[in-house]
Amino acid sequence: MNHPLRIFTRTSLLLLAVTSSVYSQKKMAAASGIPVEKGVSEALASFRKKNVRHVAYTLAFTLPAQKETPIAASESVFFHLKDNQQPLQLDFKEKADQLKRVTVNRKVVPVDHRNEHLVLPAAALRKGANEVQIEFTAGNLSLNRSDDYLYTLLVPERARTVFPVFDQPNLKASFKLSLTLPTAWQAVANGPLQDSVVTGATKTYHFAPSDTISTYLFSFAAGKFTHVAQTLQGRTMNLLHRETDPNKLRLSLGPIFQIHADALAFMQEYTQLPYPFRKFDFVAIPDFQYGGMEHVGAIDYKAASLFLDEGATQDQKLARANLIAHETAHMWFGDLVTMQWFNDVWMKEVFANFMADKISQVAVANTNYDLKFVLDHYPAAYGVDRTEGANAIRQPLANLQDAGSLYGNIIYHKAPIMMRQLERLMGVAPFQQGLREYLKTYAHGNATWPDLIKILDARTPADLQAWNQVWVNEPGRPVFDFDLQTKEGKITQLLLKQQAEDGSNRIWPQLFEVLLVYPNAVKELTVNMRERQVRLPEAEGQPAPSFILFNSSGLGYGVFPVQPQLTAGLASLQNPVARAAAYVNLYENMLNGRALAPRQLLDVYRQLLTKEPEELNLKQLTGQMSEIYWKFMLPQERLALAPALEKELWAAMQQNTAPNSKKLLFKAYQSVALTKPAQDQLYQVWVQEQAPTGIKLTEDDYTALAQALAVRDYPAESPILEKQLARIKNADRQKRLQFLMPALSPDVRVRDAFFASLKDDKNREKEAWVVTALGYLHHPLRAATSEKYLPASLALLEEIQLTGDIFFPYSWLQATFGSYQTPTAARTVRTFLQAHPSYNPKLRAKILQASDDLFRAEKLVQHPQG
Ligand SMILES: [Zn+2]
Repeated sequence: MNHPLRIFTRTSLLLLAVTSSVYSQKKMAAASGIPVEKGVSEALASFRKKNVRHVAYTLAFTLPAQKETPIAASESVFFHLKDNQQPLQLDFKEKADQLKRVTVNRKVVPVDHRNEHLVLPAAALRKGANEVQIEFTAGNLSLNRSDDYLYTLLVPERARTVFPVFDQPNLKASFKLSLTLPTAWQAVANGPLQDSVVTGATKTYHFAPSDTISTYLFSFAAGKFTHVAQTLQGRTMNLLHRETDPNKLRLSLGPIFQIHADALAFMQEYTQLPYPFRKFDFVAIPDFQYGGMEHVGAIDYKAASLFLDEGATQDQKLARANLIAHETAHMWFGDLVTMQWFNDVWMKEVFANFMADKISQVAVANTNYDLKFVLDHYPAAYGVDRTEGANAIRQPLANLQDAGSLYGNIIYHKAPIMMRQLERLMGVAPFQQGLREYLKTYAHGNATWPDLIKILDARTPADLQAWNQVWVNEPGRPVFDFDLQTKEGKITQLLLKQQAEDGSNRIWPQLFEVLLVYPNAVKELTVNMRERQVRLPEAEGQPAPSFILFNSSGLGYGVFPVQPQLTAGLASLQNPVARAAAYVNLYENMLNGRALAPRQLLDVYRQLLTKEPEELNLKQLTGQMSEIYWKFMLPQERLALAPALEKELWAAMQQNTAPNSKKLLFKAYQSVALTKPAQDQLYQVWVQEQAPTGIKLTEDDYTALAQALAVRDYPAESPILEKQLARIKNADRQKRLQFLMPALSPDVRVRDAFFASLKDDKNREKEAWVVTALGYLHHPLRAATSEKYLPASLALLEEIQLTGDIFFPYSWLQATFGSYQTPTAARTVRTFLQAHPSYNPKLRAKILQASDDLFRAEKLVQHPQG
């Protein structure tokens, strides 16, 4: 996703808007019509939006049992046309010879397929009602075909890879689907199942026409699945899954249905709109590319996120509740009201996350919502926004074929922060009323972010347009500083200043808190940071504090200062949110080379291992420790520290009485283990399947432990991974480990061959597996033999964007570059960027994002000379 570091001023944005609309008018006026270009251009989409309406599709696919067999398909497209003076383009990104026969209004026409479009001749089209019939072979690219199941995943513009379609979000349509499939298979689609007809070894499912939905929401999944249904609050929900672990099923099915029902109830109440579609079913898919996808009537989920066993941490349970709430909230935000164009894709994501946070707050017992908000969103948002490749929340998009590159942590994590600031600025009730009006006004249609801002602006005295510019249309964050004056033990003045991190003169209007910390008390003050510099009159006259914790409620955005006294006083802070905010502040300062060097921060955290009582905070703390250890310390420094650090982690684990926190500490121990005794310890746990007292390790945990031993070349008598493979019962999980094994091989030639195999896109199909494999292949312990893969990994990126799903280019880069720290690795990236000055700017930004820690390591790590 991402936009280069260009900052759009208000004027240049306006200019852009004017130019593009003049451009499309000119194009439309031209007698030759809209050019037939690859992808779905803005000009084509706006032309079709003006001319085409009342779209409906009838689709029939014959799904064979063997994944290699082509899928025969037929289709009718019904639509009304305003103007038949020009040819009309259907989008079909496949080879021309897959189109067997095309009929327009009952007349056969020659197949005219160019640049990913099926062009319908003007002469065959009519004003008013038209019907196009097409016999074709379906495209496989987005059908995710495995041995005994398949599923569509067509966001953002991949419906066009499967069948000919007007693939743009503002031409909503109903889809009438039939699937012919092996009799042992089951299937789910957007519309309810109408009937099933068995003919010999196959059966045909006829689904009722779907609700009126955008093309990216069209979906079906078919294969060998188990069907479960539950009725809650008067609604029957169906689940298809392939899970075989009886423990996971017993413990998970109840919560899965209950969380969906609770999320629906919350959304109906919050929006005052009943669930807008006819059915509400879901599918759990092994190794699904994302956490979930909000297909109307047929939500997809990554199975591993839904099915948890008794070993699940609180964090995993929260993540599951949040994921289900996110997809359910999409039914209103995204599915009912949809963006006009994918430049506003972030809107559906931000509201899904924003609502998910609100839902989890009530749906999951004992959650600290504010704590979760800080830890879920801030580190992830900063992870992109601090880099040279940072992008704005709202980005221009000239062609839908680039829509996938808009996705990323800014959309998923900075946007909710921005939205919570907006809610705070407006007030909770006026904000909610604005959202209700927005959903009601645009229900079953499309809307833009400016449409919503207009509704909200009418409900607040604040200048939302100016606010919108810096928060939404531009990337980056401020760096805060302060000036504290005291006299005779009292504060005489407290000033706060903000300065854009990129040196520009922008300011980010926002509200946040500062905490005055005393030996036995605290006092929290709210800062309304509307200006570059703000004086805090409420602080004046207060006793001088031991130290100040800036952004103590975690809701402010930017790099906040840390005082040296914080490190000693951190453990005494009672509020877990304040401690979380402190961990985030410390880490950001460390990365910026302010306040503490990496090793100093690591040493601060070592002291806190036995003192942090909150599981989510402990996860953050051990996560940061591991990052510092592997990324910002040299190999010999790690070896010197390991004996002490391992002992401290093991002791902290034994001392802790909370099972989940114990497990987090065990995982941290597993992550840093370098000495022979520590690895022996881990091996004993694994070989005897005997977890340390008080900890529950699952099959997945033992698999991860086996992999951790393998990447360390642990000298066991018999090969560890083979033995782990034999222990795994589930066929899908066996295949995953088999795939990973060559990446974990002790033999560098095997690893080289594995990396070489990734050049063939067939071997990259299971993207989640590839990302995990790359993580091991490029593990810091393998850096010396794996750094040579870096140039080829960059060279593959453009192809990966073309063949992979939307998050894959970034996760590919992240898994590849995430662990390197050497100047030579940094040079590889720079050389590549210099050698490709006109490289796709969105991909360039992703490279800069993924290698940011590498560039920082150059400055923060004292590399030996030579
Ligand atoms: Zn989403």
